Amino acid sequence: MQTKEFKAESKRLLDMMINSIYTHKEIFLREIISNASDAIDKLYFKSLTDTSVGLNKDDFAITIALDKDNRTITVSDNGIGMTEDDLENNLGTIAQSGSLAFKKENDLGEDVDIIGQFGVGFYSTFMVAKEVTVLTKAYGSDKAYLWKSNGVDGYTIEESEKAEAGTTITLYLKDDTEDEKYSTYCDQYQVQSLVKKYSDYIRFPIKMEVEHTHYTEEGKDPEVTKEIEVLNSMTPIWKKNKNELTDEDYNNFYLEKFMDYEPPVTHIHSKNEGIATYDALLYIPARAPFDYYSKDYEKGLQLYSSGVLIMDKCADLLPDWFSFVKGVVDSEDLSLNISREMLQQDRQLKIIAKNLEKSIKNELTKMLKNDREKYEKFYDVFGLQFKFGIYQSYGAANDTLKDLIMFKSSFEGKNVTLKEYVSRMKEGQEHIYYACGETKERIEMLPQIEKIKDKGYEVLYFTQDVDEFAIKVMINYDGKTFKSISDADLDLDTEEEKEEAKKLDEENKDMFTFMQEAISDKVKTVRLSKKLKSHPVCLSSDGNITIEMEKVLNSMPQNDGNKVKAEKALEINPNHPIFEKLKTLYAQDKDTLKDYAKLLYDQALLIEGLSVENPVEFANLICGLMTK
Ligand code: ADP
Repeated sequence: MQTKEFKAESKRLLDMMINSIYTHKEIFLREIISNASDAIDKLYFKSLTDTSVGLNKDDFAITIALDKDNRTITVSDNGIGMTEDDLENNLGTIAQSGSLAFKKENDLGEDVDIIGQFGVGFYSTFMVAKEVTVLTKAYGSDKAYLWKSNGVDGYTIEESEKAEAGTTITLYLKDDTEDEKYSTYCDQYQVQSLVKKYSDYIRFPIKMEVEHTHYTEEGKDPEVTKEIEVLNSMTPIWKKNKNELTDEDYNNFYLEKFMDYEPPVTHIHSKNEGIATYDALLYIPARAPFDYYSKDYEKGLQLYSSGVLIMDKCADLLPDWFSFVKGVVDSEDLSLNISREMLQQDRQLKIIAKNLEKSIKNELTKMLKNDREKYEKFYDVFGLQFKFGIYQSYGAANDTLKDLIMFKSSFEGKNVTLKEYVSRMKEGQEHIYYACGETKERIEMLPQIEKIKDKGYEVLYFTQDVDEFAIKVMINYDGKTFKSISDADLDLDTEEEKEEAKKLDEENKDMFTFMQEAISDKVKTVRLSKKLKSHPVCLSSDGNITIEMEKVLNSMPQNDGNKVKAEKALEINPNHPIFEKLKTLYAQDKDTLKDYAKLLYDQALLIEGLSVENPVEFANLICGLMTK
């Protein structure tokens, strides 16, 4: 018989696993029990609509058998089984696992314990076994197959005999060493406790023949009886009462079910009756999965109908802005035979989804209020999603998200919510001010910011591309409009100051027009600035597209060749010595004034974090001045 090689990826993973110094080798049992339970789920689901399956719920079971003499542990199920192709595809490759991709992408060293971190299912058996056999018969097929492997040289598949559909996995345990006593895995007490620890909620009975020793009379040999016992309590955790459960119970379930290695930030366990009846157990993870910000990430909750799994990732239960939430929803209102398409229309499902969204929002609001540090940590990981949510929903998600988003600000440089900002607004302050820039440091260098700070107004720092787009969609918060410090009219001055500025603007109108003509392809207006304190110039935008938005939109790959342009104005500070110089030039040397207009524009670009359009011309102009 020909031995087949494992796929290259699988082989590398296997090597790592076998040689890993992983301390929790025991999780192999949980992995194969979960697989068995999934296989039963599939056949049980079929049996509900297809009487030819011939099994009732009570007939389904997972059976463990221990053989101390031969050092084996066997786990059998009467689930859906595998065809020859399934065996080849499922056990010959680990393409689905994602763990290796993660390791590669993040360039982690060999000693990183990815097994412990992700759980690699079936392959974990090779941490404790020197040989594994899988005898299986797919439901509906009349052929059985035996898969065999020592995890190193590859595997063989041969035809075999098996009466019923299902799978039997036998592990031939490795020899004991100084440090590792593999024989404990065929010890009944050890196995009982592992099942309790990791697989208690499995909804099908996990049966095992258990020996009991009875001491009857002194001096007499004890009596040993054997009995088949069910090792797990079988009630899914979400069906239990909250007061029966500890945080550890919740966390263990999460770690196992959702293959994370860090406990979640928090969980939400809710039971509902009324318009929609359902139990939900939701988790907010502490870290983002490696593919979270890629298009490969699939959001969704596991959906059960009266304890039967009907969908692994039901996307309709979660809005995009809460796509990081993991969990389980179990409702008796849903029909078992419901198709994906029908599910999308389902009224009950919509009500459940709305309720879940509310619970998640409430939980996060509570965390923000009661445990700021925890919230900020969470926010660092997933907060960006909220701003995208506001933007992409065209504001529909405003009410849900407006009090969950945060920005850094000029006030102590910390994260602030909009509520906090508004509560600190000065008397007479009409707007929520914000400034865009790559970093907090860069923003703090913007010329426009000085005067606002002098007024005692707080400025929000928009350092993420999505920030400004999100608030453009929000329009206002609590009736207060947002204002960019690059806006033409910042509304900072008193009536008197405004009058004076207007006068000065009028007086120099001709000069400004002259300057604008020198750079007419770049700016629409040249004018006096009312928002500068010590800096000579700045740019401001007059239209709907701000300078920051121009930057972001033009950096998007799909925007090639179709550049967006903000309507820009070059503003000159009348209190800066340069202003007097400009006036002199206008009277005496108009040619030089043209060069000054260009230079001032280029300087303003640099300050905004934009690049100079013609660096050679810029350098020549400077040199011209330097050698004058
Ligand atoms: P995962 O469970 O994460 O998909 P595994 O390596 O544990 O990864 O299993 C790979 C696949 O092998 C499973 O998805 C399933 O299709 C199949 N499989 C494993 N164990 C069984 C079983 N007892 N019965 C039927 N199919 C199984």
